[in-house]
Amino acid sequence: MDKITTILVTGANGQIGSVLVQALRAEYGPERVIATDIRQTGSSEPGLFQILDVLDSRALEACMEQWQITEVYHLAAILSAKGEQNPRQAWDINMSGLFNILEAARQYKLKVFFPSSIAVFGAHIERHHTPQFAVLAPTTVYGISKAAGENWCQYYYEKHGVDVRSLRYPGIIGYQSLPGGGTTDYAVEIYHAALKGEPFTCFLAETTTLPMMYMDDAIRATLDIMRVPAQQIGVRTSYNLASMSFSPEEIAASIRAIIPTFEMVCRPDFRQQIAESWPESIDDSQARKDWGWQPAYDLEAMSKEMLEKLAATA
Ligand code: NAD
Repeated sequence: MDKITTILVTGANGQIGSVLVQALRAEYGPERVIATDIRQTGSSEPGLFQILDVLDSRALEACMEQWQITEVYHLAAILSAKGEQNPRQAWDINMSGLFNILEAARQYKLKVFFPSSIAVFGAHIERHHTPQFAVLAPTTVYGISKAAGENWCQYYYEKHGVDVRSLRYPGIIGYQSLPGGGTTDYAVEIYHAALKGEPFTCFLAETTTLPMMYMDDAIRATLDIMRVPAQQIGVRTSYNLASMSFSPEEIAASIRAIIPTFEMVCRPDFRQQIAESWPESIDDSQARKDWGWQPAYDLEAMSKEMLEKLAATA
């Protein structure tokens, strides 16, 4: 008899994890989703939450046994901008954390979700509609760790039969949570400033275009890829995933269509260089073909909903 799906989420208190846990609990039942993180926050409640450092393989194994885990959503990581402040720490957490999860998956026959990123590409790519199988030459420790992680996922699938599935998320934008140190964080912060009636200082230049996605689409893609039969997953490194691309001046214009007095100035910092090494848009046709990926939100729809939802929770 098949085991009942019981899910462990690492990094569950982060920008994506805090929203994903709610979606998983709505789908599988609150008692079937164990949220874990290295830190406790206000959003750790209600439901099952446990402090867990992904570098602690013994604690991880104890968790798998205690809760009879069948699936892991491994979100714990240090993101692109934060990673550049302490590259060694970012490498340790992103790589050793993934190894511990993949080893546990081999031992306990777990299904795994691993989020990769558009940071894997780096130099030498076609920056418009970057293809699924582009050369990966990342320029940040974050991108290097995600590119290596993708390959380890494929290795564990091929050598050990671990059913690990992965998406290359673009910059994720949602009203429910704050971002944790990435190069696209400005695209969340800008809505908060606009609603407060404050001028916004953007850390990227006006015309720097990057691939982005509304949180609802990212969560749906994550649930969908984990649901489809294994034979539909043709890419075992990580799938390109896209919905919209825009620059700071374009997102500011979409906010100004709703709040005409909104003002933005751009003062690029070290994150500008990271952004310039990333794609402007992504070709996600493989995800569309293999498991039916289809985004629902464009920039206009996202701006409208972000401002409405943030206003309602203010
Ligand atoms: P985040 O920084 O908001 O959250 C990461 C969480 O991991 C934090 O709550 C942190 O406390 C936790 N963590 C850090 N070290 C840990 C450890 N040793 N053990 C356990 N937990 C630890 O990140 P996010 O934006 O929610 O991203 C989630 C995943 O999605 C990451 O793997 C990230 O690389 C990937 N991703 C995010 C984006 C984005 O735009 N947010 C884009 C591409 C990929």
